[in-house]
Amino acid sequence: MTRRIAILYTGGTLGMKPSADGYQPDTGLAQSLAARLPAPGVGRMPHWEVHEYAQLIDSAEAQPRDWHTIAADIAARYDDFDGFVVVHGTDTMAYTAAALSFALLGLRKPVILTGSQIPLCEPRSDALGNLLGALLIAAHHPVAEVCLYFGGKLLRGNRATKVAGADFDAFDSPNYPPLGHAGIDIVLDMGRVLPMPVREAFELVPPSACEIALLRLYPGLSVARLGHMLAPPLAGVVLQTYGAGNGPVRLPGFLDTLADASARGVVIVNVTQCARGTVDQDKYATGSALASAGVVGAYDMTVEAALTKLHHLVSLELLPQEVRRRMQEAVCGECTLPGLTIG
Ligand code: ASP
Repeated sequence: MTRRIAILYTGGTLGMKPSADGYQPDTGLAQSLAARLPAPGVGRMPHWEVHEYAQLIDSAEAQPRDWHTIAADIAARYDDFDGFVVVHGTDTMAYTAAALSFALLGLRKPVILTGSQIPLCEPRSDALGNLLGALLIAAHHPVAEVCLYFGGKLLRGNRATKVAGADFDAFDSPNYPPLGHAGIDIVLDMGRVLPMPVREAFELVPPSACEIALLRLYPGLSVARLGHMLAPPLAGVVLQTYGAGNGPVRLPGFLDTLADASARGVVIVNVTQCARGTVDQDKYATGSALASAGVVGAYDMTVEAALTKLHHLVSLELLPQEVRRRMQEAVCGECTLPGLTIG
């Protein structure tokens, strides 16, 4: 039986057209693809159907409500398709991929995000290769998770990050090896993909109105500025620290400001500024002092995963203590817990 794949077209370079102001999202992806893709059933080509959003966006415009809309649309079509491809701009693709992974917990079908660096309408476009790869993986490979396929690599969605603005190989997952590669054959490493869950346990919650912030430490950050960043209304912050999770804990007022915010219920999550590596707040005194101020380490999570997970948990309206606890669990492969090795 020919497999059925839903393509959710959100916008992004893949479907853009040139304008006087530069590339802009454009409608009509279904027609453009029909003219270029092999017919369903030819080779291993699945049957595909495009759901084009009324408001196509450059993904630089994406907001948490868009993550929720996409997750809810996948859930609404879940029983009608064998897999899903989300066509998305590359700029915030890693955020959306991570957000979908937390909303679509227990996913038992592939959800593959892809896009391109050059639009489909241009010569030398990488769009068709990326889209075909994503379609074939979604149709024929039993990956029960949200992935990102780009430049011949299949990555875990909540481990991915955009690493290059102008290369076809634009994404990487620095703390987790690729799930697969597309050369002459598409080869997946099934030892790296998540095990098939017993059942779906989607958590489709509309985004909370509470604010989540991202704060990168830098030499010269003043305690006053830190205080402004942590001022109400703020439910949580992803704190990008140095190295193994360290900060300027001897700066007068620094720890007190963090501890005050924690005591008010602000969840402060520690991720490293390093492209690779993990947070271990026990390693240095400059890290353990953060722990004593209520800061919780998120191990080797990307900023994108930590931010979207925090959004998700806050939207579930959990108590701060519960949000802190769940931030330190690996719910869908988003981090490596201490003592575990990566396959
Ligand atoms: N600005 C574009 C977007 O994220 C870039 C791209 O798609 O590659 O929508």
